[in-house]
Amino acid sequence: MSAAIDNPVVGRPKLLGLDRMGLEGLLMDWGEPRFRAAQILQWLHTRQVTDFSLMSNISKSLRARLASDVDLSEPTVLRAQQAADGTRKWLLGLEDGNAIETVFIPEDDRGTLCISSQVGCSLACSFCATGAQGLNRNLQTHEIIAQVRIARQELGLDAISNVVFMGMGEPLLNLKQVLPAIRLLLDDFAYGLSSRRVTVSTAGVLPGLAQLGKESPVNLAISLHATQNAIRDELVPINRHYPLAELLDACRQYPLPPRRRITFEYVMLDGINDQDQHARELVRLLQGIPALVNLIPFNPFPQTKYRRSSPARIDAFREIILRAGLMTVTRKTRGEDIDAACGQLAGQVRAGRSSIPLRLTN
Ligand code: SAH
Repeated sequence: MSAAIDNPVVGRPKLLGLDRMGLEGLLMDWGEPRFRAAQILQWLHTRQVTDFSLMSNISKSLRARLASDVDLSEPTVLRAQQAADGTRKWLLGLEDGNAIETVFIPEDDRGTLCISSQVGCSLACSFCATGAQGLNRNLQTHEIIAQVRIARQELGLDAISNVVFMGMGEPLLNLKQVLPAIRLLLDDFAYGLSSRRVTVSTAGVLPGLAQLGKESPVNLAISLHATQNAIRDELVPINRHYPLAELLDACRQYPLPPRRRITFEYVMLDGINDQDQHARELVRLLQGIPALVNLIPFNPFPQTKYRRSSPARIDAFREIILRAGLMTVTRKTRGEDIDAACGQLAGQVRAGRSSIPLRLTN
């Protein structure tokens, strides 16, 4: 990782960003037994108690050491908004003056938190508001996890059933910080989510995809959006490095747990990628992959050149892939009145580093 896009590690360790292994390492350095890690994680994450004096099952001396030697600082809520449909959005301020956005989407049977993995994004997808602002830096693990903590504080500890890495940023370009966050989400002594309820979405960063597959059984979503390289090069420029055939090969090789599907996200752009021919090409491309196609009506943002496909066009497109036997759902647009819908997250990215070139490796 280049130092430029990772916040420098200075000062005391950020306790809220340590996964079980990280915390065990710290405790062992201090000459403490390793099993304390699970107890501390439970206080900090499951119960969200950060006052060491309340941690009754931890020795007084360890509590004192924690109080003096670790950093508990977290992002702060700069703005909280609620949409007419109940969607919530928070703007969170980071230590260095940057800000990121996090969205909660309530549904009858679940509560989904959509979290950011970077401040801005380097991939510059032409239909995405975050892509228009460039990348400032990677989020640190405690900043990724803070999004879950703040939402649980505001909504109740049981409110979040699902977490999706579909906010600002490309998670596979920040795996070093994202993987420990995933481990905390899945750890029974932290957030205890089932791996079926955590989804990583990527525009197709293939080295990262292989690494994720090796390390973590979470759900995978691929931002596909086009069936021809010429169109995808425009919409998702990283396609020029990892074109469709390679991307779909990587999906075929992805070690998918049994009975799971890869979600393919497909934003419906009027006159660009929404014709019958594209639907037929999509069916052909996805042959042999356990797939779920997620059609996303385009969400406009200022200065965009694109328009959303009409509901009739989206239905016709959907009909073709359904009839070919592919599973498909059309994503309901949520939280539009507070700019909380897919691709509308902007946060506040401090200028100055947006010229960082596309990063292809971790
Ligand atoms: N970088 C990752 C994570 C972001 S996920 C990725 O690309 O997958 C955000 C999802 O919203 C992606 O599928 C993205 O393509 C989609 N999206 C971005 N801008 C959008 C817009 N304006 N309207 C609808 N969906 C959009």
